[in-house]
Amino acid sequence: MAWTERQRVMLDAMGIRLWSPDGTHSSPAARVEGAVAAAPEPAARAALPAPSPATAAVAARDRAVGVEAMGWEALREAVAACRACKLCEGRRQTVFGVGHTSAHWMIVGEAPGEQEDRQGEPFVGKSGQLLDNMLRAIGLTRGEADAAQQVYIANTLKCRPPGNRNPEPEELAQCEPFLIRQVELVRPRIILAMGRFAVQSLLRSHEPIGKLRGRVHHYQGVPLIVTYHPAYLLRNLEDKAKAWDDLCLAVQTLRSVPA
Ligand code: URA
Repeated sequence: MAWTERQRVMLDAMGIRLWSPDGTHSSPAARVEGAVAAAPEPAARAALPAPSPATAAVAARDRAVGVEAMGWEALREAVAACRACKLCEGRRQTVFGVGHTSAHWMIVGEAPGEQEDRQGEPFVGKSGQLLDNMLRAIGLTRGEADAAQQVYIANTLKCRPPGNRNPEPEELAQCEPFLIRQVELVRPRIILAMGRFAVQSLLRSHEPIGKLRGRVHHYQGVPLIVTYHPAYLLRNLEDKAKAWDDLCLAVQTLRSVPA
């Protein structure tokens, strides 16, 4: 495994140690050449109450009408004007998503926090810094680049839950058509689902992250890798190596997807 200096710096920033010839360090992740990173789950969050399947399905279906045919501009306007749930009352602004509109990589997080609500961009707080480091370690960026390198980042919710509380099932259901449409428009080659609520929305699974990570799932036919949320990783440093493994799996998976 030949790590570049840049990757070493990034891994170090993530707190991940690499194997060295003197045998002192070993990362369980160091299995994929040229890859890296990690992410997880907002810690102090209680389990999402199981949404009533009927209620969630009806809400999503009603909301989807119209949204499913929108282009980027109409979708952005629809999100900015959305008043479908009570989160609109407390938001400073909606947080639509950023990145390359044909990105190979799509990152899905949970919901805007205070900084995101202020700035209108996902993952700009501390967990965003970790996310950026993780992306950089595998040669990706949110900044201007081509579709292979510049990711697209979106959240399951476009409005900040008050006090950063957990998203509620009704809120997730109302917001879901926007994320579905974003995935359809970007048509990524791989999706990284970060944290419990992204996983619950995309995979309809209430299994813990620990049980879902480590294998390839699919969403809209797109390979999807489950990993921890960066906010969780900031609190659980020991799981960064697992997140690195997840990034490596994502890189490997993407390589095996026909262009
Ligand atoms: N956490 C998320 O999941 N998304 C953000 O945009 C910020 C923090």
